[in-house]
Amino acid sequence: MMIDPVCGMEVDETSIYKTMYKGKLYYFCSNGCKKAFEKDPEKYLREGPKGMP
Ligand SMILES: [Zn+2]
Repeated sequence: MMIDPVCGMEVDETSIYKTMYKGKLYYFCSNGCKKAFEKDPEKYLREGPKGMP
């Protein structure tokens, strides 16, 4: 299982919502999370998913 970097949900690796950023693949639970990540990837990589410490 992969973790959606936007909302913190577990996402199956067969998810169609994924994006490549700096050579690493990120998976998302929905197109909304994918779009949010693509808009500002550094924010989510720096702060982590919502609700996570
Ligand atoms: Zn999500």
